[in-house]
Amino acid sequence: LRLTTQLQYKSRNDRLRDSVRNGLRAAVEDPMTGLYNRRYAKPFLDRTAKRAAESNDSFALMLADLDHFKQINDQYGHPAGDAVLVEAARRLKAQLRGCDLLARIGGEEFMVVMPGIHPSEAATTATRLCNAISTTPFDAPGCDTPLAVTVSVGAVVSTPDGHVASGDDMFAAADRALYDAKHAGRNQALVKGPQRSAAA
Ligand code: GH3
Ligand code: MG
Ligand code: MG
Repeated sequence: LRLTTQLQYKSRNDRLRDSVRNGLRAAVEDPMTGLYNRRYAKPFLDRTAKRAAESNDSFALMLADLDHFKQINDQYGHPAGDAVLVEAARRLKAQLRGCDLLARIGGEEFMVVMPGIHPSEAATTATRLCNAISTTPFDAPGCDTPLAVTVSVGAVVSTPDGHVASGDDMFAAADRALYDAKHAGRNQALVKGPQRSAAA
């Protein structure tokens, strides 16, 4: 009888733990793409910047925003736009290392954090992200022919010179780089760096 009671306790506790875990996961996950959301990405970036500063390491931050995405919704409908977002997330993820973070931080905006990456490797990755989207058209519901999609990437690299910028500084710089990539004609990666903190 005691064993049965113990087993009942265990099964109830397991269910509770699973539901807490699922709840925590849901709070930081974008349900459509399965990527992390902004709520998770921002503290991850801050932690990465802090660790890089402490260990004199480099890291990269990238913001990737699909080009003229509104037109896809307008021409082919929201489900087609959703399909493009899911596939874009999959393709971007495939370009990254296991330790990198990929998050969906806005409608058609993604954030990449690459801890410990060498600056030249970061630039190569940023270009690969663009190519992963532009080289193969996207299948989408309601579209007879696959859709040509492109992405612009703003990247910023922090170098291990003892002046690693904060997460906020890095985000602002990546946002400016993204803006410049858009204005330079889209479908390209613009890499800035190294970033120094205001105190440097
Ligand atoms: P730009 O090249 O300057 O980035 O232009 P854009 O059209 O990509 O940017 P804009 O900000 O004008 O439009 C973004 C669009 O993304 C508008 C919004 O309806 C759409 N969007 C946001 N979230 C979702 C989503 O979850 N699903 C779909 N289908 N569309 C979304
Ligand atoms: Mg866009
Ligand atoms: Mg946008």
